[in-house]
Amino acid sequence: MAKRDFYDILGVSKQATEQEIKAAYRKLALKYHPDRNPGNKEAEEKFKEAAQAYETLSDKEKRAQYDQFGEAGPHIGGAGWQGHNMNMDDIFRNFGDIFGDLFQEREPQRRRSSGPTARSGHDRQLEVSITLKDAFTGTKKDIGYYRLTQCTTCKGKAVKEGTSTEKCKKCNGSGQMQYQQGFFVYSQTCPQCDGAGYTIPHPCPTCKGSSRVQIYENFTVKIPAGIYEGAEIRIVDKGDAGIYGGATGNLFVLVHVEADKRFTREDNDLISHLTLSYPQLVFGAAVEIDHIDGSKISIKVPKGCPVGNKLTIPDKGFVRLRGRGNGNLIIITQCDIPKKLSTPAKDALKQYAEQIQTSVDDEQGKGGFFSSMLS
Ligand SMILES: [Zn+2]
Ligand SMILES: [Zn+2]
Repeated sequence: MAKRDFYDILGVSKQATEQEIKAAYRKLALKYHPDRNPGNKEAEEKFKEAAQAYETLSDKEKRAQYDQFGEAGPHIGGAGWQGHNMNMDDIFRNFGDIFGDLFQEREPQRRRSSGPTARSGHDRQLEVSITLKDAFTGTKKDIGYYRLTQCTTCKGKAVKEGTSTEKCKKCNGSGQMQYQQGFFVYSQTCPQCDGAGYTIPHPCPTCKGSSRVQIYENFTVKIPAGIYEGAEIRIVDKGDAGIYGGATGNLFVLVHVEADKRFTREDNDLISHLTLSYPQLVFGAAVEIDHIDGSKISIKVPKGCPVGNKLTIPDKGFVRLRGRGNGNLIIITQCDIPKKLSTPAKDALKQYAEQIQTSVDDEQGKGGFFSSMLS
């Protein structure tokens, strides 16, 4: 009699309804559930205590006796129960249905329709490689690939004309088979419908009930000028068709830009090197160069231009994909160091070296003159 009152244990009044008692027990059972309190002896005791209280109060007859006689009542604490020494397995066995309910509450049964659920198709991705020149000017690429399109025979319904899908009789449309073992409720995918919840007794002959067919798609993709390495061009509705009439995915064309021998890209600027002779760098020069798109560009090299100087030609770079205008063309100057010189040229250079009082070692051979001059 030292034990707490069953009503107190469940935290309900003596007038509590069956529903209230059940609800109170479920709450406690969840709170003190051994899965949630591993190795916690106190929780285990409370769990057992609640089970015992519920065992009595959930039974009309036992409850009446308990109300009248307390725990000394003739049917209380009997059959299967040994007071506080009761076995956990007994609780699971006796109240499995309650736990079953609890599990379903925590993981609600997915409602399935009796027919196929439309699902969106996958996006697809393709890769194309273009030259830096193509990226500069814009280009077109022919692409070809296999994709799934909606079956035109059944219009994505997957069934033969005039027929329909049927709710799976084995799982009654839930797609899941449930069975209980002791405390646990197990779910298994229905073997009859493979979890779909329905069957297709008369599939469409064209798509064999899949609602989609594979086709070879090919078309030309326009690649805009200014496109950069790693850019993705989205082509709407050219991915896989959705299942059972779901939305069609998109195609993403991933663009790779090959390296160019003469030009590199930096942001929207186009960068190239220009090799000039020493006199050109000293006196300045007007030169014409080939732009990446094949057009000619006139460049003015200023007088006394150092090696490595950056000459900026505005607006001759990449067109900006977002925003306005173009980047610049940047020409970096280099000096042409000849390995072979004609005798008159050699003499003239030696004379020049004398003029500026630079010592040279002509015996060293080719290139010796400039390397000592520049160092
Ligand atoms: Zn089924
Ligand atoms: Zn079809």
